[in-house]
Amino acid sequence: MNEPLQTAAALIRAGELVAFPTETVYGLGADAFNDSAIQKIYEAKGRPSSNPLIVHIAEVADLSLLTDEVGEQEQKLIAAFWPGPLTLVFQKKDTVSSLVTGGMNTVAVRMPAHSLALKLIKASGTPIAAPSANLSGKPSATHHAHVQGYFGDSILCLEGGATEHGLESTVLQIKNGVPHVYRLGSITPEDIERVLGIKPVFETKSEHSPGTHFKHYAPETQLEILEPEELIKKATVGGRKIGILASVEVLAQLPNELPHFDLGSQSDLLTIGSHVYSGLITLDALRLNKILVQSFPEQGLGLAIMDRLRRAAGEL
Ligand code: AMP
Ligand code: MG
Repeated sequence: MNEPLQTAAALIRAGELVAFPTETVYGLGADAFNDSAIQKIYEAKGRPSSNPLIVHIAEVADLSLLTDEVGEQEQKLIAAFWPGPLTLVFQKKDTVSSLVTGGMNTVAVRMPAHSLALKLIKASGTPIAAPSANLSGKPSATHHAHVQGYFGDSILCLEGGATEHGLESTVLQIKNGVPHVYRLGSITPEDIERVLGIKPVFETKSEHSPGTHFKHYAPETQLEILEPEELIKKATVGGRKIGILASVEVLAQLPNELPHFDLGSQSDLLTIGSHVYSGLITLDALRLNKILVQSFPEQGLGLAIMDRLRRAAGEL
């Protein structure tokens, strides 16, 4: 086993925090069964303690440490999507601290599809509770350089470069046989329906959607989301200190000297999604007056991308 991984696992066992890459975004992890370690997560992020954490496991068998109630539908979803960007919400065992669950009697669990994350969990010998490795209310970190930017050298970060998806996991709970989506992500509502044969209900904006009612993903700079044609018109009118967050196709129609971030080709939403937070962080650092953001069709992965952009723009 390589040295940073061993050091990281020792830190987790000692009740300290470690940041690590997953296929979604970087996580800020602590031993899920050590309350004082969990407390450090909330302190480091400045996160309200009522905003619950996701517990990360490396093997399906470890679910039994967290819940006694894994139904048939959850099993189907696990078989289809784990390891991967799907978080499932279960009734928690008494032994799971309410500090992890934001005071609720349910616990959110996922198995990340990233070899470093899986190795860290196994080497630590305990499930790792981890929210995204950003300061509360800031865009999630999708590169170890972002984690460094948020926490400096105070927290060890396992370096994995850019994350694959760049959007947080889909969060879902089965209630009375019906899938309820609390947070949109790369596992789309269509993916869920394909496996369960039931259309998911959206609870992404309700009071009952734990976590999503907290202000999220907000850069300092004002954002305006526009259809491509509108964006091109507005950008070329020549505002002062306007930046553009858009696909390569839209950028090709704009003067190159405008501050911009290329999200990738609009025909490849996986790439667009993976660049959203880098784009927000990069353009935000330029201290512009405004960032014009291209909107994308709200289907499939486009749903999660637009959800994050709207939250960043303060629309949700
Ligand atoms: P983060 O790790 O910051 O991306 O956020 C974790 C998110 O997972 C929370 O903000 C909620 O949206 C969701 N979550 C965690 N635990 C639960 C739970 N018990 N029930 C519903 N959603 C949860
Ligand atoms: Mg987060």
